Amino acid sequence: MLPELSRLVDVQEIDKVIMEVTQSLERLPQELQAESAALEAMQAEYDAQAQELENLKKQRQETEREVAEMAEGIKNSRQRLMEIKSNIEYKAMLKEIAFKEDQRDQKETRVLELLELIEAQKGSLAEQTQGLQEQGETVARRRQEVETEVAKLKGELAVLEKQRKELRKGVPAQLLKRYEFIRQRRNGTAISPVDEGVCLGCHMNILPQQFIDLQKGVEIIQCPHCQRILYWQEEEALEEGVSGSAT
Ligand SMILES: [Zn+2]
Repeated sequence: MLPELSRLVDVQEIDKVIMEVTQSLERLPQELQAESAALEAMQAEYDAQAQELENLKKQRQETEREVAEMAEGIKNSRQRLMEIKSNIEYKAMLKEIAFKEDQRDQKETRVLELLELIEAQKGSLAEQTQGLQEQGETVARRRQEVETEVAKLKGELAVLEKQRKELRKGVPAQLLKRYEFIRQRRNGTAISPVDEGVCLGCHMNILPQQFIDLQKGVEIIQCPHCQRILYWQEEEALEEGVSGSAT
């Protein structure tokens, strides 16, 4: 194999690691953001329900005040009843009192309903409080983890970039340019081994003459199908590599 190709394989390996690290550095803050957004949504829901509880409490106070007012009105009507002499007026007043009592009863029923709603709302809020606390802890823990991981990855990236720079020095500029061009179009793999005449980048057969030239190791050959730069390793070397990685 041409020595510059061997170095280019090393460059590609490190480029792939750099790509993974870079992707992790992008992904981790997004994951944290998703957890934070979930917490914010839970908090917003909690606030809305807490507001609803306040509304119910106000309704209850208002309705209780109305009941008290009605009770006062009924009491007054009953007192006036004592002073009425006319039978017709007396009956009319009784009717009026019955009507007021009916209205008061309805309001009292409403107060009971409101009390039930208030209790249910309190229960729901208590449950949400627990969920909120758990999510808050999750976010705090995740933030810690992400910060630690990001710091570690940034350190790794700095080392990798340095190594990459050194490795690239061993590859001719023209070849590097071609490598970058193919790499961007072939999902990060620009140089690919050939095994038994098959390009392992696209799993297609290369031309027999290309395979012969490749084995001679004097010129740079690209796959006719995927355009990747090709290299050939002695079969023993490949088998060793395969059995080595399998164990
Ligand atoms: Zn190919």
